[in-house]
Formats: sequence, C-alpha cells, structure tokens
Amino acid sequence: MSTTLVPPSPPNELDPHLLELQQRAGMFVENVLVPLESEAEERGGALPQDVIEHIKQEAIGARLNGGRFAREFGGQGWSMLEWFVVNEQFGRVTNGLHWHVPNAYNVLMQGTPEQIERYLVPALRGEGGDAYAVTEAEAGSDPGGITTTAVATDGGWSIDGEKWFVTSGDVARVLIVMANVVDGADRLPTLFLVEPGAPGVEFVDNPKYTHNYPHGHPTIRFTNVEVGPEAVIGGVGNGEALQRAWFTEERLGIATHGLGAMWRLLDETTAWALTRQQGGRRIMDYQGVSFPLADSATDAALGRLLALQVASMVDGNADPKLVHAKASMAKLFVSEAAWRCADRAVQVFGGRGYLRGNVAERFLRELRVDRIWEGTSEIQRLIIVRALERRGVEATIH
Ligand SMILES: Cc1cc2nc3c(=O)[nH]c(=O)nc-3n(C[C@H](O)[C@H](O)[C@H](O)COP(=O)(O)OP(=O)(O)OC[C@H]3O[C@@H](n4cnc5c(N)ncnc54)[C@H](O)[C@@H]3O)c2cc1C
Repeated sequence: MSTTLVPPSPPNELDPHLLELQQRAGMFVENVLVPLESEAEERGGALPQDVIEHIKQEAIGARLNGGRFAREFGGQGWSMLEWFVVNEQFGRVTNGLHWHVPNAYNVLMQGTPEQIERYLVPALRGEGGDAYAVTEAEAGSDPGGITTTAVATDGGWSIDGEKWFVTSGDVARVLIVMANVVDGADRLPTLFLVEPGAPGVEFVDNPKYTHNYPHGHPTIRFTNVEVGPEAVIGGVGNGEALQRAWFTEERLGIATHGLGAMWRLLDETTAWALTRQQGGRRIMDYQGVSFPLADSATDAALGRLLALQVASMVDGNADPKLVHAKASMAKLFVSEAAWRCADRAVQVFGGRGYLRGNVAERFLRELRVDRIWEGTSEIQRLIIVRALERRGVEATIH
C-alpha cells in the first residue's frame, strides 16, 4: 500500500489510504477521548477502570493499537508516516488520554520470542504495559552517569540502584531498567526486564506533577533484585544503542503530538476570535489578537514539514545518525513552538483561558514537559551541533 504523501503537508492532500487512517484516528479522538478530558482533569488524570477499558476496546476496534509493531504480535505494522498521521490526531487531546491506547516501547521489538510473548503481545491487547527506567537522581541529561549495577550471580543477575521519573511505572507490568553490567573494570550499559512485583523492587515515591496525566512517574528502588539470564533484552552492553533508537521515535512522537496540540489550539482559538465581540467588533479584527494566531499557524506549518521529513527519512531507511539529529530538531522546534502557541491561545481566550476547563490552559501546563523529557531543549541543541560538526551543514539542514 502506498504511503506517499503528495505533497507532504495539508491533510486534505494525503493519499486516500492515509486520509482514511487520519479520519479513523480523528473520529476516535473526537468521539471517545475528547469527551473525557474534563473528567480526567477533575480526577487528577486517573479515570475509572471501566472507562479505561472502554477506551482500550474502542481503540482496538478502530485498529489504532500497537502502531508500528508487526501484525503477528497484535500491532498494525505501520510505516512511520502512518504512525505520524495517527499520533498527530492523538496529540489533539489533553490529559494524555491517548496513553490508554494499547502500545509498548519500541525496544520490545528486540525481545526474544519468549519476551515478546510474555510482555509485548499482552501489552498490545491492553493487558498491561511497560515503563522505561533510565534517569537517576544524579544522572539525567547525562545518562552515562547512571550508577545502577547488574552483577552476575549463579542464576543470572542481581540489580541495585534507584530510578527517578519512571513514567507509567505505577501501572506497568514490566519495567525496562537500564543498568551497568559490572565486568571487571568495565561497565556495560544493558537493558533488563524487571517485573514490579519482584522481591527487592520498592516504590519509594509517586510525586505530583504539573500535568494531570493517566499515569504517575514514580521513584523506584532496586535492592538485590534477582533476575534470570532471560531478563536481558537486546544483549549485554547494547543498552545505549537501543536507547538511541528509542529516543528517535520518542522525540519524533513528542513533535507529532505537539503538532496535534497546535492544530487543536488553532481550531479553538480561531473559532473563538471570530465570534467573541468586544468594543463592538470581533476580537479577530484586532491585530493584537490575530497576529499571534498568524505566528502560531506559521509555527504549526513549519514544524509539520520538519516532522514529516523525519518520518519519511525513517521510512526511506536514511542514515540512523542523521535521523537521530533530525528527530532532535523536530522535537526542539515543535516542543518550543507548541508551548508558545498554548501561551498565545491563553491570551486570546482572556480570563477564560485561565480556567481549568479551557483546552488552552490545560495544554499550557501539559506541553511544558515536552521541553524537558526525552532530553531537554539544551540537549537537543547539543545533538544538532554535533550533527553540524560530524555530518556537515547541508546534510543537517536539508
Ligand atoms: C514528567 C516526567 C517524566 C519522565 N519520564 C521518564 C521516564 O519514563 N524514564 C526516564 O528514564 N526518565 C524520565 N524522565 C526524566 C527526564 O528525561 C529528565 O528529567 C531529563 O532528561 C532531564 O534530566 P534532569 O531532570 O536530571 O535535569 P538535569 O540533567 O539536571 O538538567 C538541569 C538543567 O541543566 C541543563 N543541562 C544539563 N546538562 C547540560 C549540558 N550538557 N549542556 C547544556 N545544558 C545542560 C538541562 O537542559 C536543564 O535545563 C521524566 C521527567 C519528567 C519531568
């Protein structure tokens, strides 16, 4: 099936297959997720279990679960462009409600048949997901500084350390834990699959954050956690390489969701500015209102071109290092632009923009973390600078 985008921008010019996919995802977002935003906000992010089950079943029925994972495992086998089209729609909803759509981190693609059967297949059916634990108290922007260790034992490995900000760690069926395998003087970054109920796994804290999202980001301590050899995923010492592939997709995901957020913000603020009257005129007729909307539209259009380019590069098997740098650019630009758009939207809504029930107010809080997680804006700039140096100016900007 063709996934060519002709030309690569306006949604009404997608090829028929992509357009159908976009509309299917859009209907799911509008009909199933958006009506739950206020309830999610009022409940601090956590919806009742029966509502969560309803979302999962609707998503599965609409064939939106499992995204890029192969169909044989219960995914959709999407190209990156197909994934983009769907995730852009997911980004239109606040309160992270699309997190309830069954899925998993792409590292599980590297699992053994047993790991895939045990963790990936049920996750794509909506029977318990995963969480990724890399960050530590003293190792954030520089994950090379992690001190969690895995020491060989007779039966496998013993893991010790403490992980911070483990998104979905409070609900996950499996934790993907980055630890340094101790091999004499060497430290080999390696990913381990650890079940949260294993002896020695302790949930130390589950702090509140600025957003009201479905899951928490707890602090988890591992004390002499014994796992078997089958807990290693992707091979001993391959943790950093796997993490790079993970970051590329996650960063493009942040950009893609940010584009959906800008789209929704523009829809809502434009409709409001065209109908709201003050001083006998539509507020859209005041340039103080309309020019920020023009700037937001320009931000949204530019960010979309860049993110679409990255998605096409992935599908075209471009050099992964270049894709990595381009994904950083997309994440940097869109995360900063989306937050600017949300701030402008709050201003256009006036006092109503400061109400929790207003989409712009929620996005203003929620989009802020996109400039921090999966590498801060400063770290994205470092990656882009490195690309300028190593891949050259032309490859980096074209
Ligand atoms: C809500 C939330 C969810 C998260 N989920 C996860 C998760 O699921 N799994 C996970 O492993 N982690 C997760 N994180 C952690 C996140 O990836 C880190 O917070 C982020 O990478 C920044 O690390 P830090 O907080 O330690 O800040 P620091 O690294 O201490 O940075 C502090 C400041 O210094 C700047 N800085 C640091 N180094 C440099 C440099 N070399 N050059 C220029 N500036 C620099 C940073 O940009 C930042 O402004 C999450 C964080 C949050 C807030």
